[in-house]
Amino acid sequence: MKVIVAQKCGFCPGVRNAISMAEKILAKERQVYSLGPIIHNKDMVERLAKAGLKTVDSVEEIQSGTVLIRSHGAAPEQIAKIKKGGLHIVDATCVLVKRLQQIAKQLDRAGYKVVIVGDENHPEVQAVVGCARDVVVAADESDLHKLPKNGKLGVVCQTTESPQHFSKMLGAIARQGFNELKVINTLCKEAIKRLESAVQLCRRVDIMFVLGGLESANIRKLAELCKKYNSQTFHLQNWNELDKMVLSGKNVAGVTAGASTPDWIIAEFVKNLEAFNNSSG
Ligand code: SF4
Repeated sequence: MKVIVAQKCGFCPGVRNAISMAEKILAKERQVYSLGPIIHNKDMVERLAKAGLKTVDSVEEIQSGTVLIRSHGAAPEQIAKIKKGGLHIVDATCVLVKRLQQIAKQLDRAGYKVVIVGDENHPEVQAVVGCARDVVVAADESDLHKLPKNGKLGVVCQTTESPQHFSKMLGAIARQGFNELKVINTLCKEAIKRLESAVQLCRRVDIMFVLGGLESANIRKLAELCKKYNSQTFHLQNWNELDKMVLSGKNVAGVTAGASTPDWIIAEFVKNLEAFNNSSG
């Protein structure tokens, strides 16, 4: 099978940095905790768990040791609790997520009602919500009823949203007739490049694979986008999940992966797919 890998896929700098920080602390310390899974990838979480990383849901579960803040960041309230509990913090928040948090704080201080376009269940958005007063989270146009009737809005975006969705939402917000809108572009270029290179690849292949955690909303969105451009798109976590029947009659396969998909998962998948022989398979 001919296999083409998307020009940009797999770990982004923010995730790579968080993993490398985790590995460095685990080499030195025994009690290391991550508040929530370090990334939305079960294979990587299991690998780090074997190295000693304990994943917890709340600060209250930690008695002592070091808390790693993942690339999605944590709300100021959580950071305060960690400090109050006398725990050591290693902050692996991505610089772009930090920037988004700072912007939300500044907009709030300057009297803007902060609006974030994004998913209210995503940890990055939840951390931003904790950075300002009464942040409005708008996933799509059905959430616009949450906006105030007047006043000035400061609009930002979850870093991994698509530019198309952000601009559509800005248009919809502008139509509400606010006198003042301040928009700060908080989209991540790395995430945009992943979306764009996946779309380009979809058009060139018979079948498309999107690799990454099923629990990752960003990867699910990437797979939905790919499906629009190539109906033969499959979202899988790794090679073991592939039903070989779907390869029947296909000659060229495309592979992309989300920002939280480890290199070894991509490499193993590509190697096996390249070796796959349709006539014998
Ligand atoms: S996708 Fe972008 S913003 Fe998110 S962690 Fe990676 S580099 Fe940072």
